[in-house]
Order: sequence, then C-alpha cells, then structure tokens
Amino acid sequence: MIRSRVFAVCLLVLAVSSVDAACEGPLALQILGSGGPIADDDRASSAYALWSDGRTLALVDAGGGSHLRAAQAGVNLAEIQAIHLSHLHADHSAGLPALLKSAWFVRRGNQLVVSGPGPGGRFPGTREFVTTLLDPETGHYRYLSEYLTEGAPFRLRPVQLDHRSRQLQSVMEGDSLTVRAAGVDHGPVPALAYRVEARDRVVAFSGDQTGVTEGMLAVANQADLLVIHAAIPPGAGRVARNLHATPEQIGVLAQRAGVKSLVLSHWMRRSLNRREAVIRDVRKHYNGPLHVAEDLQCFPVGG
Ligand SMILES: [Zn+2]
Repeated sequence: MIRSRVFAVCLLVLAVSSVDAACEGPLALQILGSGGPIADDDRASSAYALWSDGRTLALVDAGGGSHLRAAQAGVNLAEIQAIHLSHLHADHSAGLPALLKSAWFVRRGNQLVVSGPGPGGRFPGTREFVTTLLDPETGHYRYLSEYLTEGAPFRLRPVQLDHRSRQLQSVMEGDSLTVRAAGVDHGPVPALAYRVEARDRVVAFSGDQTGVTEGMLAVANQADLLVIHAAIPPGAGRVARNLHATPEQIGVLAQRAGVKSLVLSHWMRRSLNRREAVIRDVRKHYNGPLHVAEDLQCFPVGG
C-alpha cells in the first residue's frame, strides 16, 4: 500500500516537472506544435522551444495551442530571450497574446524580443502587429500596454526584418544565442526562416515556404538540425505548391544544404494521411536522419 502510494507520488512529480530528459543536453529542440492551421490533425499549430542545459532559450512561432503546450513542456517564460515569428498567419502567431499574458506572472528583468517579417500585401509588419495588440489607446489588448511603455514585469522589443532580402540578417546576438533570418517564399505572405546558433550548434527553422530558394539554402546551410514544414503531399495542386514545399523539394533542399538531421513538422490531415508517400519523396533526395515531429517531442541537437 505504502509502496503504491510512493509510486503514485513519483508519477505525480514526473507529471508536474515534465521537462523531457531528451531536452536536458547542451542544446535541444522541442516541438510544441507540429500541426497546421486546421483543427483536424490533433496537433497544436506551429511552435517550437529551444533548450540549453535545461533552460529555455527561445520560442520559434506561437501558433494556436502553443500556450498549453509550453506549459506541458515546462517552458519557463522567465528564461526565454525571444519569440521569433516566421510569419503572421494565425497558425504561427495566434498564441502570442496568451503567452504574453502568462509571462506577466513570472519574474524577469530583461527585454523580450518579438521578431518577425515586415509588412506586405494583406499583412502588417511585426511592429504594427505588436502595437495593434498592445497600443495604450487603440490596442485590442490595451490592458497589457505596459509591455510597450512601463509598469509591466518586462518590456517587449519588436524586431522587424526585411523579408524581401534572401541574405542572412542579424536578429539578435548574445553569449548564449545568436539568431539570423532570411526572407523565404510563402506565396504573397511576408515570411522568414530562422537560423539559430547556440553552443556551437545550428538549428534551422523553415517556417512555411516553397523549398529550394536562396534564403532557405542560406538558413539551412550545414545545419545540425532543420525543422521543415511538410504541409502538402506529393501531387498537391498549384495553389498549395505556391505556398508550401513539396516533399521532393524538401529532400533536395536538405541534401543541397548539407543538413545533418531533418525534422518534418507542420503536418496537416492532407499530408498526414499520406505520410509514407511524403517520406518516400523526401528520401529520393535526402539520405540523412529523418524524423516525423509529434507535439512535445524533444530532439537533442548535434553531439
Ligand atoms: Zn502554417
């Protein structure tokens, strides 16, 4: 009886402090959301956490569901240095207000960078996106406007990148984390891919994009791990291909960039239903380690 109670308490402790052991190395990637924009895939929308020695360095994307997944992953919002948005589609950014509100309750003194693309087409720039949410007079969440003025536990620093440039641009540089970004093609949507360097290792994030482009090759060059979005199956139509890389393009990109490990994410029902065909087409061109992302899964990087 006592033994079973001890076992139950141990299980409870494990459930509360849920940081995955695979996240505890020098550098690790955790999938917070491996899904797309449609609520038919049993996955949170796009979101990722980077871990270093058990601390959360940064988030990449903040799609719907990322708030809950961050809690389940044990992400410490007092530790993260930045939230890097690949673009402003809802499945990559809708979780941002919930994460910011949650972060109000943690102790942190430093700024929080929120980076993303500039304006274009039907999309505001990242600076306008943040002020539209938080402006003291007109912001939808003006009750949180102290994030831009003073009085909040910490200040936000929006960083807006030139998504039209295919060259690597500096987002932030620090002792523990260097982040650069380049513009990528996502139809008419301003979009970025990110190259994150920490502990002498490189993790690249494609965001949503169309494949073998100059910006993507720069971001993914010799990366220890590339997270790339497998949103469409082989044979997808023109409209889908204007927004997303085909599986064959993913394989060509990974091989040409010399990527050391590949994680396929941003699954949608249309690609999940043909998962084997997606992998087969990637494999026509890329023969390195390949993984299918699941929410909350952790990948040690390099080493
Ligand atoms: Zn998306």
